[in-house]
Amino acid sequence: MYPALVSEPVRRVLHVDMDAFYASIEQRDRPELRGRPVAVGGRPEGRGVVAAASYEARAFGVRSAMPMSRAVRLCPSLVVVSADFARYRRVSAQVFELFRAVTPLVEPLSLDEAYLDVTENAWHEPLGMEVARRLKAEIRATTGLTASAGVAPNKFLAKIASGWQKPDGLTVVAPERVEAFLQKLPVDALWGVGPRTAERLRAIGVTRLVDVRTCDERALRGAVGSAADWLRMLARGIDPRRVEPHRERKSVGNERTFAHDLTEAGEIRQAVGDLAQETAGWLERHRTAGRTVTLKVRYDDFTTITRSLTLDVPTFDARDIVESATALLARTEAGPRPVRLLGVSVHNLGTGSPREREGAWLPFDTLDLPSPTGPDAGAAASDAAPDTPAGDSAAPPRAPRGRETGSPDSV
Ligand SMILES: [Mg+2]
Repeated sequence: MYPALVSEPVRRVLHVDMDAFYASIEQRDRPELRGRPVAVGGRPEGRGVVAAASYEARAFGVRSAMPMSRAVRLCPSLVVVSADFARYRRVSAQVFELFRAVTPLVEPLSLDEAYLDVTENAWHEPLGMEVARRLKAEIRATTGLTASAGVAPNKFLAKIASGWQKPDGLTVVAPERVEAFLQKLPVDALWGVGPRTAERLRAIGVTRLVDVRTCDERALRGAVGSAADWLRMLARGIDPRRVEPHRERKSVGNERTFAHDLTEAGEIRQAVGDLAQETAGWLERHRTAGRTVTLKVRYDDFTTITRSLTLDVPTFDARDIVESATALLARTEAGPRPVRLLGVSVHNLGTGSPREREGAWLPFDTLDLPSPTGPDAGAAASDAAPDTPAGDSAAPPRAPRGRETGSPDSV
């Protein structure tokens, strides 16, 4: 399926992620905030949410995307700071300038997170670990901020590695240690599976990522749909995605093929609502908003239709997207005609929504995997984490917290 894998040299991929980015910038610029629990975001009296929490605030259980009112209840001494995205973007530009001085192969994931392919790099450093170490030092010298880095032979492992020890972490997964690393990963930690998918996977006996290797094919498909192919590959440590410096996302979405065709209106609405939630969650985490909501329906005879509507203003608000997507259902024959697949996507994307958030506390929830099943599955299916809920119900970090020290080796 991916014959290139066997002949290609090992890549050295870095995932670099700034620590508590917005909150750290505030603490840097306002010394009176240092050492105090800080949350950047909206006011607790309104419907504000936490965009980023300092590590002092996280100790109280404060997390990104949590309503600020709840954050304040958890941590009464919380200092709530309004976001200043213009300033955060300036710092981001400095950080990315450092990245691009090392390699042109920089793929931004958000303002404070990127993949770098440093197999060849401007420093002629043979070890990815050394590149990461120097980059972290440069980031600190230039911005006064810390970053966590993961070094691995591919993107998915690098991303997990960067979340392994935060803040100011550096984790290396050398090729010869990939198997040992995989053995430690709970399946939900891996690919941003939300609690519901994790539950479905547990129900078929998959609790660790490596359990995917041996589980029944049909059971796996029933649990995760077309993402099964990806899970199988990731469970073997394989991820052929390249670091793509110029990737520009036009749309984002989720779709799901059901084990049994859906015919009940309530069930269909629920499924559309879930997919819309997931899509909204992705947009939020990537600080991206979109204007056009599209519903895709594939009937039992494989006829596939799409219905779209365009909003007045870009949004990533889950309620807007859920409402739009379920409204579009009325323009389909879903129900009277059995449905085998549903998808909800958002197009006309742009950044800079006023409610940007930092989602870095879920280090695994943004494996925007390309679809293994062709362009039709598209951005959907695998682009966003299947069921990472938006907002307050989002889970706490699922990363294994053990210390993992990299060996100075061939990565
Ligand atoms: Mg971050």
